[in-house]
Formats: sequence, structure tokens, C-alpha cells
Amino acid sequence: MGRGLTISPELKQTLLDEGYYHAPLTWLRDDITGPFSFNAYGSNTSPFEVKRIDGQLQVWENGKFYTNIAFYKRPKFWGHQWAFKKNAEGGASNSIFLDEGISSVLTPCGQEDFPENENTTLELTGGKFPFVSLACYNGLCIWPSWGCTYTKSKNACRFCCIPGNYDEDKVLYKQEGWFEGLGEAVKAAVDEIGDEIGKFSITVDAGTLPGADKGASVYIKVLEAIKARLGYLPKASYIRAVIEPPHDEKWLYALRDAGYTDIQMDVDVYDTDERRAMMPNAKGFRPIADYLKAFRKAKEIFPGEVATQLIAGIQNEKRLLDGFEQFASIGVPTLLTPFLVGGLGRKLKRETGADVPSSDSMKQLYDKASAILLKHNCPPANFRGGVSSLAEFMGRRLKRADVVTHELDRALVAAAA
Ligand code: SF4
Repeated sequence: MGRGLTISPELKQTLLDEGYYHAPLTWLRDDITGPFSFNAYGSNTSPFEVKRIDGQLQVWENGKFYTNIAFYKRPKFWGHQWAFKKNAEGGASNSIFLDEGISSVLTPCGQEDFPENENTTLELTGGKFPFVSLACYNGLCIWPSWGCTYTKSKNACRFCCIPGNYDEDKVLYKQEGWFEGLGEAVKAAVDEIGDEIGKFSITVDAGTLPGADKGASVYIKVLEAIKARLGYLPKASYIRAVIEPPHDEKWLYALRDAGYTDIQMDVDVYDTDERRAMMPNAKGFRPIADYLKAFRKAKEIFPGEVATQLIAGIQNEKRLLDGFEQFASIGVPTLLTPFLVGGLGRKLKRETGADVPSSDSMKQLYDKASAILLKHNCPPANFRGGVSSLAEFMGRRLKRADVVTHELDRALVAAAA
């Protein structure tokens, strides 16, 4: 399921013409999203193919019906995009961004012919990127930067899904007008979403930014820009900062005071040796004790959820579950995210054989994880953006908001009822 989809250029164009956005797509079946987002950029080697039969979009696996699917309606607020300086100047675009479901601009799944040089930049978005993107499950995601300090110092995490060298153009918030444009995009999103805003979450994420605050000051400016434009913060279901733990807990307070209700500090790899092997940078050398301290403090401070992430497929499963349990024991749910072979992950796959976990192995992992959550009376992660879909497998089922559901899908559902 993490291997992408084949789709004919004609069908892809038809979907675009009809007002769909061709990624991400959501499983209709029982309204549970897939554990991996599918992006229809078309891997010729994928066993999964998108077809439309009697009006219904479907995925077929090796020529056999697999499941019905639906794509999101392309929201109007996506028209608010940031054009990259480099592209505007006619140079190469660094507009590619990989994240399974968060930005939907591209995921690694569809790239079968990856270049030998992982730093090669692909140009698939025309140099534009939405200020506010729509995640798999009704989450608005804001990325003030995907330039990461570890990429800059050439010791990026080996599973990093953001391709390419460090480039100042990827540090969006430093570009003149970016915060104002963000404010306008959020205004457009809030207007379009209307009364359903409470069904949406807001997530701010970025590559790790330099400094002891790990980017917290920039995250705070993001909310300030929204408040400056709207006069208030939208009443989303939560406003989450995804960030490496700042070195000083004062930044946790500052994030909360700025309006963040939730915080997610991703451990990614649990075992000390494996952390150092997979993250040859300051993050990899941060002891788990740092995270535990930050989790405990954050749980005192934030009114919403304190959560983390571990990546399946690149670390020993027993140790991964040890981490999952340790975090659950202090009330911190862990999102178990499958490794995706994109960005630097392609090189990691070549060097170590690491690969996308199978859907069966992920389901087994979720079963074990669910039992641990029950044992510790820890609720599953409340994510509604990006890989939030995984949380569905641990017991949550959330309805997609009408505002992003295409009328053709509504008609199909109504006809089937
Ligand atoms: S995975 Fe590591 S290198 Fe990549 S953006 Fe995140 S912190 Fe930076």
C-alpha cells in the first residue's frame, strides 16, 4: 500500500478537470482512511491501479478489484500558494515536498526511477506550494520551512523524506511576504470551511530549525500572523506544534501561550544505538530522557494532547514497542508511522534493505500497540492530519468534512444508500 498507484494520464487529467485533487485519497470503505496515503503519480511497477467503473473510483490490485476510493475535492484555498523565489527567477524549483498525506504535493510512492543522486531536485509542482495544505483527514497543515538544520549540516536523518540539499529557499518564513500570505491563505480556508472549522485541526510542522528553541519562535510567529489577519485563532479541534523538544522548557510555555493546544515531539527511533545509526545528528544523540522530561512538562502545560511518533520498518520492532509502552505509561500516545521509501529513504533502502512495511505487518503492529494503550489506559493519538489516518486503526473513526468531499462522491454514497 505504500508503493503508489498506477493511473492513466487521461484519468488523472479528468479528475483534475472535475475539481478533484489527485492526492491524497481516502478510503471510502467504512470511512477508514488507508494507513498509507496513496498518491497517484503513477508507479508503473505498482500492483495497484486506479480505475473508474460506472462512475465509482476504484483501486485494483494485480487486475482484481481491491477497494472503492474517493479523492478529496480540491479546496479553493489551495489557490493561495507561495511561489518560490528560485522558480520565479527561472531557475530550478525546490518546490517538491514529500510527506505522506500532509502536503499532498507528492509522496515518494510514485517515484520508481529515483535518480542516483538523492539531491536531484524534481519539479512537479510548478514552483508553487499551498501556504495551508489539506491533510488526509481534515487537517490544515502549515509548513514555515522544510529547510532543516541537519540537512544543512549534511547529517540529515537517514530516513528523511524531504529530498535535496539544504537550500535557503526552503526556509520559507524568511522570505518577505510569507507570513502575510499565510494570513490570507488561512482567511480563505476559514471562509471556505465555515461552520465546519471545528472538524478541522491545524498543525504547524517544519524541518528542525537552528537554535535552542528548535524553531518554537517561528511557530509562534505563524499563529501571530493568523491572529493578525483574522483577529483571532480559528476554533479548530486542536492547534498542534510538531517540533523537536526545545532545550529550555520556557519555549513549551511560550508555545502554549501563543495558542498551541497540542504538541507532538517525535522520537522516531527509540533504541540509543539505533537512534545514532539512523539520525547521525544532534537529534540522534539526544537521549530519550530529554524526551521524557519534555513530555512530562508538556503534559502539565498543554490543554490538549502530548504525542510522539515512532517509525516502523527502520528499527527493531521489540524495541519500538518498548518505546511505545514507555510513552503510553506516562499518557503519551505514539503514532506508529510506516517507513516510506522517499527522499533519503531511497538511499537507506539501498544500503540496508529497509523497506515499506507490509500492510499485514502494520496491522499486527497496531494490534500490539492497541493492547499496550489499553493496558495503560492511554487514549490513541488524536491526530487528524497527515498520517493521522493511522489512528483510525487504533479505534477512531472520523467523518470527512463536507467542505472537502466532492459532490460526485456524495452522489454515489447517496445512490448506494
Ligand atoms: S527527518 Fe531529520 S533531517 Fe529530515 S527534516 Fe526531520 S529532523 Fe530534519
